[in-house]
Amino acid sequence: MAKKKTSTAGTCKLCAEEKNLRWSHAIPNSFFRDIQRKNNGQSILLTTTPEPIRRTNESGGDYLLCDRCERDMNIFDAYAYNWMTDTRARLVNTKFRGRIELNHNRMARFIASTFWRCAISDNQIYDSLKVSADEIDILRRSFLDEHDPFHNMSFGLADLYDGEGFIDRAAMPNVIISPTSWLGTRKRARYIGMFFVVKGFFVSLVVPRVAYSQRNDPTFLNRKKTHIVVPRMDIRSLPMFKAVHRATMLKFIAE
Ligand SMILES: [Zn+2]
Repeated sequence: MAKKKTSTAGTCKLCAEEKNLRWSHAIPNSFFRDIQRKNNGQSILLTTTPEPIRRTNESGGDYLLCDRCERDMNIFDAYAYNWMTDTRARLVNTKFRGRIELNHNRMARFIASTFWRCAISDNQIYDSLKVSADEIDILRRSFLDEHDPFHNMSFGLADLYDGEGFIDRAAMPNVIISPTSWLGTRKRARYIGMFFVVKGFFVSLVVPRVAYSQRNDPTFLNRKKTHIVVPRMDIRSLPMFKAVHRATMLKFIAE
């Protein structure tokens, strides 16, 4: 495949100005690079498309943003990447269950902006994310400076493991599951949920946000807190975690 141009003229999807658009990554490329470095330039990407598992050097690029908007997003990306890398290193010690400092606001903006970028990207690795134009707009507004990301949605961050033990704890961080959405019902009200997996973290978002009584639930980020005890989450407890993901993960691990 020919190397992509680093920029091209177009309309920035965020500020809507006619500018040079950068070749950018909806899921920050640093997550892919870490894995690709270990695996001859290839990462394992799981999607729900007809070819659900890929050993790939694809990392989901598209021309989306101008230079200035791209740099604004990079602030969230760099924060989340560094936090997940450091936290993963601590969680390798399975006995570690301590509190970890987390800037909830920044992490929430990273999560919302990542889903937004995936939703507007034409790159087919994001085809499992099915969101309406209204939902895309809610995502976009939630990470802009003047908005509170927690106003419309709730965010989740969990240490993913396989309770049946087929997927080794050490292998989990080497798999990227591309953003996938699901529709659910909560107290008879419909909601849309979205998740992706990077560095062994199950990263999720639901719109609208959960009820007040659920906001102290440790599986959701709480903006009033400065620290987090990362909850562990069993793949088997996640109905949105499609059988195809699990089967393909197992296949990858077995290869
Ligand atoms: Zn822009």
